[in-house]
Amino acid sequence: MTTEQLQEVVKPSVFARTHSVVALDIANKVVERSKELGRPILDLDVSDFDIDFANAPSAIERTVMVDHFLKDTFMNLLERIIHNDCPVTRKQTVLFFSPHPDDDVISAGGMMGAMLDGGHDTHACYMTNGSVAVWNKTAHRHIDFLDRFVDAMSEADPSLASKLRSVEDATSFLKKSVEHCEEGKDLPIAQTLKRIIRESEAVSAVAELGMPSANAHFLDLPFYRTGGIKKKAPSDEDVELTYQLLCKVRPRHVFVAADLQDPHGTHRVCYDIIRAALARYSAGMPAPSAPAASCLEPNTVAPASEARPVVWLYRGAWAEWSVTEASAILPLSRHQLQRKVDAIYRHESQKDRAMFPGADPREFWQRAVDRNRATARELAQLGLPYFHACESYVIVWPEEMPLE
Ligand SMILES: [Zn+2]
Repeated sequence: MTTEQLQEVVKPSVFARTHSVVALDIANKVVERSKELGRPILDLDVSDFDIDFANAPSAIERTVMVDHFLKDTFMNLLERIIHNDCPVTRKQTVLFFSPHPDDDVISAGGMMGAMLDGGHDTHACYMTNGSVAVWNKTAHRHIDFLDRFVDAMSEADPSLASKLRSVEDATSFLKKSVEHCEEGKDLPIAQTLKRIIRESEAVSAVAELGMPSANAHFLDLPFYRTGGIKKKAPSDEDVELTYQLLCKVRPRHVFVAADLQDPHGTHRVCYDIIRAALARYSAGMPAPSAPAASCLEPNTVAPASEARPVVWLYRGAWAEWSVTEASAILPLSRHQLQRKVDAIYRHESQKDRAMFPGADPREFWQRAVDRNRATARELAQLGLPYFHACESYVIVWPEEMPLE
């Protein structure tokens, strides 16, 4: 770190939520040093840093300068913590895009609960049907349920037997279709059954947080529908379907998975599709007059770019934002974290042993708890308030969505 870099940082309101590269670099160094020494940020001083003071002022000025950037880093981190129960105050429309049917609750379940509690018109949009990640044994269990239901009803009321015959036929047809599928290579009928299993789980998960089922939208994008692991290349049709959904819901806040480490690259494809759809949706809207993160300032007058959606990038299933990268940090109480876990539990087909867990042996609900609690612990170690758990977000305008 050079004196020039320090001087750039030591200005009033230095890096706010949209930070310069130099400011981010210094914030990272402060956080790193605080962790290395096991001491809170505001307990550090000039003697804890190896700084090149080549053109440097006097010893007292150096001390004041370092004190300033320590305090600045601390205050900036503090400002990113959302203090209200709900991050946005006026009633607005909110849309959570989820690449697979469970990413929304795994990574942003706390935020979704907060938005619903805050009375916002909250929607979820599932981009792919996730059918490939359902075991055949799970499909068989659902067919068995239908089988038993038909038997029980026919026995209870023999007059129903003829009416139920068509269900029975459908059940045996389903059973044969699934039996003939190699795991991971589903025939269309098995894909449909598995898609329905995942849709019903997604609806059940968001219901746990208070969302009506009518607000769960299933795009079932064509690029994913191959019945196998290998997907088609995304096309204009995928972007068009996503754009149409934006036009229908007209969200002010859009949540997007920027968690691009999933095993088969579906998150990356979905991210690129949303970027293209959002670019089209917001084309022609007035240019933003303030950073996207200013949507969190309680007394901000709505900018002229009111209609332009604010994009919240989330992570959590495969990775997490660092505290210095995050523009907004949502604290979760013990109860709120448990409610999020309860929502993740509703994805029964992904529990115990998901078909595609990646290299991480933990279940998705465990990853969510571990990551959210680790963020909270990290803040406390830096001398910031102690919370039970925290979700982290990066807030940008659509045109600022990073390519990598
Ligand atoms: Zn996913």
